[in-house]
Amino acid sequence: MKHLIRKEFLEEGYVFATAAAEIARRAGHTRPARLASNENPYPPSPKAIRAATDVLPHVNRYPDEKNQAFTRALKERHGDYHFVASVGMDGIIDTVLRTLISDGDRVAVATPTYSYYGLAVQAQGGETVSVPRKEDFSVDPALFCRDAAGTKMAFLCTPNNPTGTTETVETIAAICENYEGILFLDCAYIEFDETDYRPLMKKYENLIIGRTMSKAYSLAGLRVGYAFVPKWYEPYYHRAATPFTLNMVSQAAATAALEDTEHVERIVSMVREWRGRFMDECPYPVVPGGANYVMVDVAPKKADDIVPELAQKGVIVRSCASFPGLPDHYIRVSIGEPWENEAFLKVIREIYQS
Ligand code: PMP
Repeated sequence: MKHLIRKEFLEEGYVFATAAAEIARRAGHTRPARLASNENPYPPSPKAIRAATDVLPHVNRYPDEKNQAFTRALKERHGDYHFVASVGMDGIIDTVLRTLISDGDRVAVATPTYSYYGLAVQAQGGETVSVPRKEDFSVDPALFCRDAAGTKMAFLCTPNNPTGTTETVETIAAICENYEGILFLDCAYIEFDETDYRPLMKKYENLIIGRTMSKAYSLAGLRVGYAFVPKWYEPYYHRAATPFTLNMVSQAAATAALEDTEHVERIVSMVREWRGRFMDECPYPVVPGGANYVMVDVAPKKADDIVPELAQKGVIVRSCASFPGLPDHYIRVSIGEPWENEAFLKVIREIYQS
């Protein structure tokens, strides 16, 4: 029956990096440092947990299809913008692609970057056009617009996964000015940086800013993403979305989490402090970035050699060798709990000196 499956799904899909965890387990580490997935090591706001629990007895009903409470909280937090929400930012990406892309349409992606864009474009029948970043992983707006010419849509991630590098507001404005398609700015990690792209939404009609509750807000397991969208675009998004996209528990938790600003500020300041320590104390060069992870250049070692070495010593990080467009000597290390971060620094020093 396999011949019935669309060709887009005959190849391997999203790759979950699980090999290092298996090495650590076999080496007897029952509690390894888990620094491979850019997760928040801390639990969500107690207010979010309470709100999620309170709503459980009511899940016999469908949720509010307009996500009104969450949208109100978003407006309170960010101002009077237009918002859509979905099952993670991945859900937003899928829905946006549905509104714009059909067979043979071209989509630009600033690479190296998050792999899901390419898979989602392919699933929609589109074709990816890779737009390489500069050597320092930044994006040159003129080159970007030149390479992305003729595409209907473009993905640009900032802070970028896996490099951590952040684009300036001026770069994004210059792209919005000169690019004729819709720019999807993936800001999954923006809470850990200080750059504020939101005011660009007031000026440009071709900009969508994606955000997630998975990272700074510790709600990865509940799958909540949202996006700032242009006013003209919002009704089309809703036509393409699945009905009742966000479940009741996720909506309640995300609303409460967004309102607990103190909780998120504590986490963000902890991440910034450790990012500074990784920059200062890691013996290998760390790429300057603005996320809750850093990318480390382990040359002359190869990423696929050092990752098992680290795992053997109980520290799980991500090799960046599978990111197209990136040389094979980078690893990505999430900022975890202090003991995990200390473990990484200790073990990477040992490997460097050996
Ligand atoms: N964009 C980037 C750059 C990511 O790294 C991730 C998560 N790994 C996502 C989007 C998807 O996030 P979510 O959990 O909201 O689907």
